[in-house]
Amino acid sequence: MKDNFRQQGKRKQLVKLLEEKGITNKNVLEAINVIPRHLFMDSSFEDHAYQDKAFPIAAGQTISQPYTVAFQSELLNIKPNQKVLEIGTGSGYQTAVLCELGAKVYTIERQQELYKKTSKFLAQLGYRPKYISFGDGYKGLPNYAPFDQIIVTAGAPFIPKPLLAQLKVGGRLVIPVGEDPQIMNRLTRTSATAFEKETFGEFRFVPLLENKS
Ligand code: SAH
Repeated sequence: MKDNFRQQGKRKQLVKLLEEKGITNKNVLEAINVIPRHLFMDSSFEDHAYQDKAFPIAAGQTISQPYTVAFQSELLNIKPNQKVLEIGTGSGYQTAVLCELGAKVYTIERQQELYKKTSKFLAQLGYRPKYISFGDGYKGLPNYAPFDQIIVTAGAPFIPKPLLAQLKVGGRLVIPVGEDPQIMNRLTRTSATAFEKETFGEFRFVPLLENKS
């Protein structure tokens, strides 16, 4: 697994572009600067790794666009050692960003092919999420709750209630909601029973799938 000067240079350009697009969180930008995104993609797409675009990965899924990863990460504003739940492990790129930010990461993937491939790959790269789960993100991980932050990386038709229930008071859920496109939502749990909702414009994700057969 190689990361050469050319790729590092392209990554610096990508970080610059993300800054121009409005990303300001230094820790997020540094995470993107150090993670070799080209290794998370099929080799046929490697040349495109440092364009600000989503690309196909296995099982008909995509690696999210760098701007989207940066934007969602900035909305979470993670502090080291926070417990973070990610729904939609996919390529593991967002997982790696969360690890770089110092989070204790729990992540769920429903496609077995991706679950297996990405579990192995993240370990090879030296990223150690606390737990990678093969399962249904709509349910969250009740046995590991509560979480400081929850991030959903697929388009949800509605906000799953179990995810809200698994947030600590003061915790946040960042989730794209709707059909195509989705609206980025951030829900902050302000008390045991109350949530405050903010919205942040349109994004495009693959769907958060229900009822896996
Ligand atoms: N975070 C990923 C984004 C991958 S795309 C990355 O950085 O590459 C969204 C992922 O969500 C896909 O891998 C898809 O298989 C997964 N997914 C879709 N529905 C899901 C569900 N109900 N539970 C868990 N994962 C799901």
